[in-house]
Amino acid sequence: MSDKGNAGCMCGAIRLRIEGKPVTVMQCHCSDCQKSSGGGAALIALMRRDDVTLLTGSPEGYSVTGASGGDVRRCFCVSCGAPVYSELGKYPSILAVKLGAWDVDPGLAPDCAIWTASAPPWHHIPADIPSFPKARPAA
Ligand SMILES: [Zn+2]
Ligand SMILES: [Zn+2]
Repeated sequence: MSDKGNAGCMCGAIRLRIEGKPVTVMQCHCSDCQKSSGGGAALIALMRRDDVTLLTGSPEGYSVTGASGGDVRRCFCVSCGAPVYSELGKYPSILAVKLGAWDVDPGLAPDCAIWTASAPPWHHIPADIPSFPKARPAA
């Protein structure tokens, strides 16, 4: 039980060990992410579920139909309210982990911006990465 992991919520009730490299890192400007983040885009690393271990805590989930039509279960800490990760109904082997969950900057940066059509004019959308008005088209 000495493994404190390398990620978690704000209060420490939820602790995670995250290993491996993300499938992709994105910033999402959809209206649900704005609500969840308090106004900004969500910064998300799509991790293989097998690379994420829940060490302590039991995240609460709030399920929505995502902007792309799939089920999204947004998981957060009931003590501090921090969003930690989302489970994607369409991609059960993936967890969409918030970049802020890592204790130390994991050195990841978004490689695309999605749902920019929903962004207010003051959201920063980097010019040096691809951006898509809605979901990223399937490769
Ligand atoms: Zn917490
Ligand atoms: Zn979003």
